[in-house]
Amino acid sequence: MREELIDLLGQIRRQLISIQEIGLDSPFLSAESLSYLVRGPQLDAVPLTTNPHCESLEELEHFLSNCDRCKLSKARKTIVFGEGSPHAKLVFVGEAPGVEEDLAGKPFVGAAGKLLTDVVKAMGLTRDEVYICNVIKCHPPHNRDPQPDEIEMCFPFLQNQISLIKPEVICTIGRIPAQSLIDSDFKITRGRGQWHSFMDIPVMPTYHPAYLLRYPQAKRQVWDDVQKIMKKLGLEDPRRLKN
Ligand code: URA
Repeated sequence: MREELIDLLGQIRRQLISIQEIGLDSPFLSAESLSYLVRGPQLDAVPLTTNPHCESLEELEHFLSNCDRCKLSKARKTIVFGEGSPHAKLVFVGEAPGVEEDLAGKPFVGAAGKLLTDVVKAMGLTRDEVYICNVIKCHPPHNRDPQPDEIEMCFPFLQNQISLIKPEVICTIGRIPAQSLIDSDFKITRGRGQWHSFMDIPVMPTYHPAYLLRYPQAKRQVWDDVQKIMKKLGLEDPRRLKN
């Protein structure tokens, strides 16, 4: 698609130059487009499409391979696409891959990831039964917050993922995914634990496991949020089953 676009621009440019050379009026185009085309498009700056509409997760992952749509591509090691069941009833959406995820190519494999795995197990599920991904697919340097242009560029891929999986519930983990899916002014301390909606799918925002590593006392609140999700999904509390 990108190559076709570059080829097409090249052909249009050559046509315009020859029209101008033989003294004919240029076709109807804005002065800006005309000067851009005749000057020669900055081919490196022709963006790859960000409107994927892929029909399977494999196709989407392939579509993203070697992605250089945003500046994060320069320093990342791996694109962390996401993993889990393509038919998951529950999708967890985190913020962005950390250093360990960047190396492993898998989401939530570091210390915070282990805690997320414990949460999934406490729900009576395995990581293979849910789907885990992030708002952005590449590791931001020094673990900084993803920037708005990076989120904007990557967001259609998350939308495509969700439209393919069609989960019954999305759980956003941490501030950034809640602000991206629910409301840019979302305050995690005030808004967590309440149902919201994204693409007509119920969304439960909760704390990020990295926050729980620092403030273990917040585990109680995360468990409350998780129980709401379990109720919506009709899951039994495995702890209650044991008693
Ligand atoms: N934190 C996230 O938000 N996502 C990961 O994949 C890892 C850590």
